Amino acid sequence: AKSEIGLIGLGTMGAMLALNIAEKGFAISVFNRTTAKTSEFFAEAGELAPKITPTMSLEDFVESIEQPRNIILMVPAGAPVDEQIAALRPLLGPDDLIIDAGNANFRDTQSRAEQAEADGVPYLGIGVSGGEEGARHGPSIMGGGRQEAWDRVAHILTAISAKYEDTACATWMGEGGAGHFVKAVHNGIEYADMQMIAEIYGIMRDGQGASASDCAEIFQTWNKGTLQSYLIEISGEVAKATDPATGQPVLDIILDRAGQKGTGRWTVIEAQHLGAPVPVIEAAVAARNLSAMKAERVRGETTFGAAPSALGKHTLSADELEQALIAGKIMCYAQGFHLLNNASVEFGWDLPMPEIARVWREGCIIRSSMLNDMAEALTAAPKDNLMFAPFFAKLIEENAGGLRKVVSTALAHGLQVPALAAGLSYFDAMRTGRSTANMIQAQRDFFGAHSFERVDQDGAHHGPWGSGA
Ligand code: NDP
Repeated sequence: AKSEIGLIGLGTMGAMLALNIAEKGFAISVFNRTTAKTSEFFAEAGELAPKITPTMSLEDFVESIEQPRNIILMVPAGAPVDEQIAALRPLLGPDDLIIDAGNANFRDTQSRAEQAEADGVPYLGIGVSGGEEGARHGPSIMGGGRQEAWDRVAHILTAISAKYEDTACATWMGEGGAGHFVKAVHNGIEYADMQMIAEIYGIMRDGQGASASDCAEIFQTWNKGTLQSYLIEISGEVAKATDPATGQPVLDIILDRAGQKGTGRWTVIEAQHLGAPVPVIEAAVAARNLSAMKAERVRGETTFGAAPSALGKHTLSADELEQALIAGKIMCYAQGFHLLNNASVEFGWDLPMPEIARVWREGCIIRSSMLNDMAEALTAAPKDNLMFAPFFAKLIEENAGGLRKVVSTALAHGLQVPALAAGLSYFDAMRTGRSTANMIQAQRDFFGAHSFERVDQDGAHHGPWGSGA
């Protein structure tokens, strides 16, 4: 019998996704460029082997899948996806569906979808989150492309996805690159969540002399409250781990230079294109870039001396630090959903806002209990800024004071809190009815005759510049 689905690319994610698919009872064919990896994968498939058909050529792979075919690509984003599509299409029929499940830039997915549309063949771009573990036991899946194409494979994608209670964390987001866009914003938020946790860790470590295990305890406590989330949980786990070689906390032996594959940066770039303010995410991406500049930072420390950092008697309580993270997190998500709204309008996707929050509740890296509250808030008011949802407005009221105290104390002592500070500034900007942009408008009109609006009259006006005023 032929397989119900095929998968190309048995790397970290592809291998785990293939096992997950087989485990849910779907017969699957697999192919990998380096065929030795395919044999190795099959040899280790154990009791799932009967559901798996390993193939050593693309032709055999295609032949082994029942028609109309459904084929998942799990290869690195960019040129490898185009190369695989180019190699596959000539072997496929017009109804055969290619599904790119890697982290494609949504603009690439948009153009691949357009090309597929022009060729009259089906195509999907789906964002898969949850890392290796998620891929194996239940990722969060954000689909994009034609809805008919999604419907064709939805039973498989929902079966393999994470579940929140009984709801599958696999949702069709919209046409073209919608799924990959939502995945990019997920990753941008992930950068920000991680950065804010790292900033709080920095205050505890450098400001208050906390050991890694002190930090672990605090993260574990927070994980039982409003901040309950995968990232807080694993922050507790990593903080308590010991390096077997040296007996030191693992955190203390890890170099302070963070990597990135670009998805957080894409979020910021797209936010700029769309005029959506996402300062918390921007700060997180900038912080990763700064982290890479290790040599310059060391040079700066020699040149200018290290920042004072120790808080001394200005200690911050665990409750205040928790409040700062809660308020910062709300600002970050308010910005992320605002960006999604702008994109939805710009690209005509009609993104299902509450469904986005729902699909992120389980399986993905940013999963947290707060996302369930966001799903409820967005069900009531899908297009409204999350800050104004009664549940979050109340949380902001309760926690913004902590955020202000933490940010101001940290800044006064030279501790790095760029993402939390961006969250606080966003909050303040969002409750300033009269901003200082009147000065910007005056300057623009002065040097470029761009005109301005008046508070007391309609129409475009110019200032009395150059008239001796
Ligand atoms: P890996 O590097 O582990 O695996 C890549 C796979 O793609 C390998 O099987 C490799 O084959 C194959 N491949 C590479 N280049 C080509 C090519 N030009 N043509 C055909 N096949 C090729 O990557 P991951 O599994 O980590 O990532 C795959 C995708 O999933 C990426 O887009 C990634 O961003 C995304 N992703 C990754 C996550 C993670 O946590 N790792 C999480 C979510 C998404 P070969 O064995 O021959 O080298």
